[in-house]
Amino acid sequence: MVKLTINELVCKGCGLCVRACPKAVLALSKTKLNAKGYHPAEQVNPEACIGCASCARTCPDVAIRIERE
Ligand code: SF4
Ligand code: SF4
Repeated sequence: MVKLTINELVCKGCGLCVRACPKAVLALSKTKLNAKGYHPAEQVNPEACIGCASCARTCPDVAIRIERE
């Protein structure tokens, strides 16, 4: 099983991970704001994740961590 964690404090809401995901797992939050004033990425469709790590590789701030359980 794949466990994906997004560090919302580090995320700057750039959306690169959202575009990089082939399974439409991620989206920028429409409601949350982090301490820096950005809408962080969140998982809107977690069950579709295939653990490809495309999102984590794309993130310029290394905010996404993927673990296999
Ligand atoms: S690991 Fe792959 S499928 Fe899962 S959220 Fe990231 S880009 Fe999407
Ligand atoms: S690529 Fe990184 S910084 Fe950009 S929205 Fe995704 S998690 Fe946030």
